[in-house]
Amino acid sequence: LSPEPLLHVSHLTAAYRGLRVLHGIDIEVAAGEIVAVMGANGAGKSTLLRAIAGQMPTGGAIRFAGTDLADLPAHRINRLGAVLVPEGRRLFGGLSVEDNLRLGAYARRGPDRFKPLDLVFELFPRLQERLKQRAETLSGGEQQMLAIGRALMTNPRLLMLDEPSQGIMPRLVDDIMDAVQRIRGLGVTILIVEQRLVETLSIADRAYVLQTGRVVMAGPAATIAANADVRRAYLGM
Ligand code: ATP
Repeated sequence: LSPEPLLHVSHLTAAYRGLRVLHGIDIEVAAGEIVAVMGANGAGKSTLLRAIAGQMPTGGAIRFAGTDLADLPAHRINRLGAVLVPEGRRLFGGLSVEDNLRLGAYARRGPDRFKPLDLVFELFPRLQERLKQRAETLSGGEQQMLAIGRALMTNPRLLMLDEPSQGIMPRLVDDIMDAVQRIRGLGVTILIVEQRLVETLSIADRAYVLQTGRVVMAGPAATIAANADVRRAYLGM
């Protein structure tokens, strides 16, 4: 008998103002995995992450670390350890790098509240060099590091990344992917939505392909990357 996955999404539905965009999604993520969610624009990838994070009403079931997330408010889900780094990052632009990171730890208590700071600096030394710099003056890549760093300050079990390579220079994409792998090495499970599919599938264990709010394909990342339909439709080959 395999152990219960860290995240188990079943028959998930979600809608915007009555218009349904997720039509019964089933997804499992085991502890320690990197799982990619791919699909064309508008397929529902961001909506899926938002739904798991409790940022919109949903139907179906979401189980995380043995807890039923249905009807839990977003801050409770965050505190349980399922943490979303949204598309566009949502940093506090007028605040310093340091203050953005410390705000990430606001929900933690006790003496080791700011302990993950060392970890964030180890992953992203650039942030340590720029502690006093205002977030809005960081480069796109640095802002993404800060957004991920801030999420790590909450000590997540599951980190959900929505297009971390968006708006950053192509040569930094590999740095972000490296960071994601190192974060997994720290014991954090990863669910990632990315347009840079070749790079993403190269670090992912498994992938799901969404099409208009449904899972149309799922499997080991290498199998998905080798699939002829996927290569034609999503990898431009
Ligand atoms: P992309 O790759 O373009 O970011 P996606 O796969 O992440 O796309 P979603 O952003 O989840 O797709 O959008 C799924 C559907 O929901 C789309 O048809 C989109 O237009 C719609 N949608 C997304 N956000 C809203 C919103 N705030 N209000 C109404 N409809 C929305």
